[in-house]
Amino acid sequence: MSKKLRMAKRVGFIGLTAVLLLAVAFAGPMQMAEARVNIYRGESNVQTIHGRITDENGNPIIARVELWYAELGRITEELGEEVPERVQFARNLFHAGYSDARGRYYLNAPPGEWLIKVSKGPEWEVKTFRHSVRDIQPRWSVASHRMDVTLRQLYHLEELGWFSGDLHLHTWHTDGQDTPTEVARAAIGNGLDFAVITDHNAVDGWEEWLEQRTDRFLPIVGEEVTTGSLIKGKGWGHHLVVGTSTLDGGATDPYTPDIMGRYMFRSAEQVQRLIDLTHEQGGVFALAHPMPGRDWPGGTISIWDKIRHFDAIEVWNGSEAGPHTRSLYPDDVLWNASTMATQVWFEFLNAGNRIAAWGTSDCHNTSGLATGGGGNPAAGYTHILEMDPRQCPHLCSCWRA
Ligand SMILES: [Zn+2]
Ligand SMILES: [Zn+2]
Repeated sequence: MSKKLRMAKRVGFIGLTAVLLLAVAFAGPMQMAEARVNIYRGESNVQTIHGRITDENGNPIIARVELWYAELGRITEELGEEVPERVQFARNLFHAGYSDARGRYYLNAPPGEWLIKVSKGPEWEVKTFRHSVRDIQPRWSVASHRMDVTLRQLYHLEELGWFSGDLHLHTWHTDGQDTPTEVARAAIGNGLDFAVITDHNAVDGWEEWLEQRTDRFLPIVGEEVTTGSLIKGKGWGHHLVVGTSTLDGGATDPYTPDIMGRYMFRSAEQVQRLIDLTHEQGGVFALAHPMPGRDWPGGTISIWDKIRHFDAIEVWNGSEAGPHTRSLYPDDVLWNASTMATQVWFEFLNAGNRIAAWGTSDCHNTSGLATGGGGNPAAGYTHILEMDPRQCPHLCSCWRA
């Protein structure tokens, strides 16, 4: 395929992503949430696969359950070899969800050949089952199939002093699709010890989020602050403010209905003020997806030399591509953003700064079925060593250590 055509296809893909996001904005979060609960609710000719997920001691666990088309090459055959791998994966993943606190899950499978994958992050065993659903007769009926699953925890990083968390997650309070409760379940289901919700210029839903705390999971409130005007092409990027004690953050103009337009920090000086304010409130400040990207031409790079004392750089953002996609588009700056951000971090370290690197998912949809607007939950996450964040009320001492 010619380079031009490939570029045109890719622009089309990005365009489609934008349209999907717009659709989410106009459909309203409640409708999306309703549709997502079970995409086949009320439909017939499906088999309900249900059961309980437990650990090796028989205790119920929250885990992730995925339903995949058994023939993974199916979509490639239909659409041709030029379909990027991440799109193939998004299409071949039919449905995904999480078991609840009592370990119960269910999913509805139409007739066909399926792979069912049950997982709970990298410390746990992954189990995959092949399952076929025959055409169900009469067609208006619903069949059921019970499948209980036991997962063993293979590694115990916590005992070695490692704690993992996702520092960048969205909820339906802005452009995400899940409630704070659902986001917490996804974080736990992917094996994380802590997580931060960072909605755009908003901390709505923080009460529900903090209620998700258990002795094994720490929810932390944050915010993704927009700076500058994206419309005029003069943006200074998105910044993650995490663990501030004043929950309204003082960062937004609540009277602007457009969530992305609620920025109040419009210059490098004002961004510096935001950093200082964050520290005064006991929080940490990170540059989010800092390289020039889809949303703005400059990214935060345009003010790096004008701001000081920020705590971290997001070197991995789940919505940016991993090594697979990078190799597909070696000439495309959009898809090299994670590598470039990592190199910038090295430069900061070489200059004598102590700045942490963050990996995050920027997840907007915990099923991972959306192709745009962030990665799967825990597609990117950060390990921190020897400091239990659950004992760390404002988190900042963890990052400034
Ligand atoms: Zn962002
Ligand atoms: Zn984000």
